[in-house]
Amino acid sequence: MRIRVLGSAAGGGFPQWNCGCPNCQGVRNATIDATPRTQESVAVTNDGNAWVLLNASPEVRQQIESFAPLHPRGARHSPIQAILLTNGDLDHCLGLLSLRESHPLMIYSTERVRRGFIEGNVLYRTLQRFADQVTWNVLPLGRREMIVGVDRQPTGLSVEAVAVPGKPPVHCEGLAAPHPEDNVALRIFAADRTLAYASGVGAVTPSVLAALEDATCVFFDGTFWSSDELLALGLGSKRAEQMAHAPLGGDHGSLVELRGVRAPRRILIHLNNTNPLLKEDSPEHAQAVALGWEIAYDGMEVTL
Ligand SMILES: [Zn+2]
Repeated sequence: MRIRVLGSAAGGGFPQWNCGCPNCQGVRNATIDATPRTQESVAVTNDGNAWVLLNASPEVRQQIESFAPLHPRGARHSPIQAILLTNGDLDHCLGLLSLRESHPLMIYSTERVRRGFIEGNVLYRTLQRFADQVTWNVLPLGRREMIVGVDRQPTGLSVEAVAVPGKPPVHCEGLAAPHPEDNVALRIFAADRTLAYASGVGAVTPSVLAALEDATCVFFDGTFWSSDELLALGLGSKRAEQMAHAPLGGDHGSLVELRGVRAPRRILIHLNNTNPLLKEDSPEHAQAVALGWEIAYDGMEVTL
């Protein structure tokens, strides 16, 4: 299994267009030891030929162009055989609307995520220009499914969606009660290799630990370092947990709670631009690395 990180930042990216926080200004002005990042998306392949995207970020066009194996191999072609969604957040789904150039799409998500994106969304009609422009496969929780490509061929990968603590996307809040299908971790299988992909996790629970169990490689929610990160910077009114992201640091942070995870590769992704570990010379960065975690960056490659 080959994994390519196309984007490693949380919603807004790094730097974020309207953010003048020390990290964003520092990376703009090149006065801190940090690298810009686009919004989270990862490409996975088993055979090097058929690629599967995990989430479709608002920067999907730039991300495809940044990686030659995702370029067309014919006058009208894409090696992207399927797109899997972990939740309905716009930074994970908005890219679908950018893939509207009359190309068939194969999408996998829970029923809740599917409905959250298409219901009442007049813009979705841009993906309904012809019959079968979108084939939407509903992922049941806890059942392993083969990932079939838009060419109807098996990709050699299979997937299991596991419910993990999260919340509906902002545009769906208040429209329906929260539901286990709002937010999932994806377990992707190829032969004896397992990638556990959990880029949004509101709390480390037994179900989260089960989703990471026996994985060869784990990608985990690295959004915030501390619970009051946005409050302390005067940038927001919500704690990390209220935004469905367990903070990494502290006595009860994810890094402590995940100390029993034994995957050979453990990688933090979905990094918010305020997170101090984005500074490569920060104590937070050093602490995560000392505990065996790698910090995802755009262009990172992992082969399992
Ligand atoms: Zn910022």
